[in-house]
Amino acid sequence: MRAPPSNGFRDRWCGDLRAVDAGSVVRVAGWVHRRRDHGGLIFIDLRDRSGLLQLVFHPDSAPAAHAAAHELRSEAVLSVSGEIVLRGPETINPLLATGEIELTVRDLDVLATSPTPPFPLDEDVRVDEMLRLRHRPLDLRREPMRDALILRHRVVREIREVLERHDFLEIETPILTGATPEGARDFLVPSRLQRGSFYALPQSPQIFKQLLMVGGLERYFQIARCFRDEDQRADRQPEFTQLDVELSFVVEEDVLGLTEEVMGAVFAVGEFAVAEPPWPRIGFGEAIARFGSDRPDTRFGLELHDVGELVRGSEFKVFNSVLEAGGVVRAINAGARELSRAEQDGLSEFVQRYGARAVAPVTVGDGGWRGNLAKFFSEQQIAAVNAELEASDGDLLLFVADRAAVAAQALGALRLELAERFGLIDPGRHDVLWVVDFPMFEHDEQEQRWTATHHPFTAPAPAAGARELDFSDPGVLRSRAYDLVVDGAELGGGSIRTHTPEVQRQVFETIGLSPAEAEERFGFLLDALRYGAPPHGGIALGIDRIVAMIAGSESIREVIAFPKTASGADPLTGAPSPVDARTLRDLGLRLA
Ligand code: ASP
Repeated sequence: MRAPPSNGFRDRWCGDLRAVDAGSVVRVAGWVHRRRDHGGLIFIDLRDRSGLLQLVFHPDSAPAAHAAAHELRSEAVLSVSGEIVLRGPETINPLLATGEIELTVRDLDVLATSPTPPFPLDEDVRVDEMLRLRHRPLDLRREPMRDALILRHRVVREIREVLERHDFLEIETPILTGATPEGARDFLVPSRLQRGSFYALPQSPQIFKQLLMVGGLERYFQIARCFRDEDQRADRQPEFTQLDVELSFVVEEDVLGLTEEVMGAVFAVGEFAVAEPPWPRIGFGEAIARFGSDRPDTRFGLELHDVGELVRGSEFKVFNSVLEAGGVVRAINAGARELSRAEQDGLSEFVQRYGARAVAPVTVGDGGWRGNLAKFFSEQQIAAVNAELEASDGDLLLFVADRAAVAAQALGALRLELAERFGLIDPGRHDVLWVVDFPMFEHDEQEQRWTATHHPFTAPAPAAGARELDFSDPGVLRSRAYDLVVDGAELGGGSIRTHTPEVQRQVFETIGLSPAEAEERFGFLLDALRYGAPPHGGIALGIDRIVAMIAGSESIREVIAFPKTASGADPLTGAPSPVDARTLRDLGLRLA
């Protein structure tokens, strides 16, 4: 760190002092990290953001400071001055950046004291997370938290630098706004001045960034906070941060290329080793077929194979009935594994969580298959499946027969589970790729309606092989969306947008918004699109997840200064909390 301005509290950072500073008199400030009383001498490790420095208190040369140091406890706040001296060779600490020196204290100011902290701050022990969150200011003093927030800062600074080189403007968009359809529930804020009306917190700045393009700003970005009221899952936050980007007069390749430059720089900052861009692009259909997921983890094999045609007409009723009903039979080659009966049953229980009925296992051997299943298939069928799965003796083949989407999802999840169980992922390997060519619409079977796969502002593309946009069969339309996937996690996504009101109206109509509803909710966007909108597109990348990934953190909470728990609560401030009757009255609200 650059030397701090000398202001009476400090003129140097603890962690930056070195052997070359021996002989100089400095003043440092910080927290008592650890104290050792050696009868005569007292040693204190003083901590500031830059690191640790050993202080020595001598009873003879500085009796007052020594006496005061005797009373000091962990986490007291000090400012001390004295001479930097070289340590004797036997007391050098090679594990500490400042381990060759120490500060002989002449003068000590105790600025604040502290009771014993609720958990140790000077060692890397596992502490209950609720306790850490309740005492977050203390938790932030611990080295891993400090390092995570420094990394986060450096990531964001790198992003700003790259985008500055490309003439992007950083522009803020409103937090109090109207609904933004990203597919989650909105957080609502009641208006006091217009009783009965509500603002929504933005699920993303999506519409505003498009309006900035209509506004001729050409290149926008924002480190944007987004709010989504979703059922909490383990590693989700109700508010999160994304790098939000939008550009005018662009096609897919422009956005992907820019993102590769930004993310390449971010990965370099985090020393997160990925291949040089351009990164591989894989179509949505291929991702589902090979990996059973639209965020494929390509760091290991165990790919899915469609073996339906190879086993059609066998004696095995289960496969036949699924195939006759238009379903699929898919399989993975799990490699040479010996699973007990109970473990094999466990695999079926696992896929049942994804709606599949069972896993049918066979082991390759004896010139065919071993196990109950073998007798149902002809030699040719067995040989064809073995060839498709590149199976050799001892390999375990796992089959799922079901509707296509269910089989893909179940085997996709099973593949990840097996990789974890058998340790198939090399922790030093990182795979980054783009998933492209998504379907524009998905059919919601429960509600019997079409929804936009990405969001309704994504531009549709004609069906494969077609030249015109034809909305009569929404299921075949593709979209101009793309997702960035790293190690099987989606780090971001975006799209080229619809920039004419006609197409935007058709998309709204397809997802079941009547012209009147579309006008009421998105009239301002449709109106803006009427006045000459440039072709435009963009992307959003999840900062929390990116930083957690390159930091190797288990949870995004480890890279957020003040996160919420999985249930959306903040143990530090007690939010969310009830409000008093009067506040509700002012807002015109009554609790049901
Ligand atoms: N608004 C989208 C999201 O937040 C990203 C984008 O399309 O740029 O997921």
